[in-house]
Amino acid sequence: MRIDPLPYEDKLEARALSQVDLVVMHCTELPDLATSRAYGERVLHPGSGTGNSGHWYVDRDGDIVRYVRHERIAHHVRGYNPRSVGVELVNTGRFPHWHDSRHQTMDEPYPQVQIDALVALLLRLQDELPALRFIAGHEDLDTAEIEASDDASLRVRRKRDPGPLFPWAEVLAQIPLQRLPL
Ligand SMILES: [Zn+2]
Repeated sequence: MRIDPLPYEDKLEARALSQVDLVVMHCTELPDLATSRAYGERVLHPGSGTGNSGHWYVDRDGDIVRYVRHERIAHHVRGYNPRSVGVELVNTGRFPHWHDSRHQTMDEPYPQVQIDALVALLLRLQDELPALRFIAGHEDLDTAEIEASDDASLRVRRKRDPGPLFPWAEVLAQIPLQRLPL
């Protein structure tokens, strides 16, 4: 487990840990951790000098890195950021044709060692965040559809992560969190 703060971590809005009751599961939809880091460091919100990222990243080999501490609100999901911790699994997803109607399959499996590391992380979060009760997939919280990049007459999901290969039952069996939406 490594701590590697994003350059703008201190510019993210502060919060009380007592308001954090939700973990949002993501996958990076990028080829590797280094690329995910580069995307996380990009400044996309000029007013605050911040960008989009999760708090935690879990690599395919089980390596865990923290980009943002829990006391800061990271931008990782529409509408749920102030109350949640974002956990990103490195996984190719639909990269690099995210919104191409012909490339919507998310077919890279999550290795067992990555899922085992995730479960250990979630149990640790349970210890550090007293109000934590819920877990949800990004795809469950952001169901927006947008025009497909290859054909304007078609619509695709803006967010599909962590996708159909994420082993929800296996993970939920090992952690004391309830899945949202209830
Ligand atoms: Zn996501």
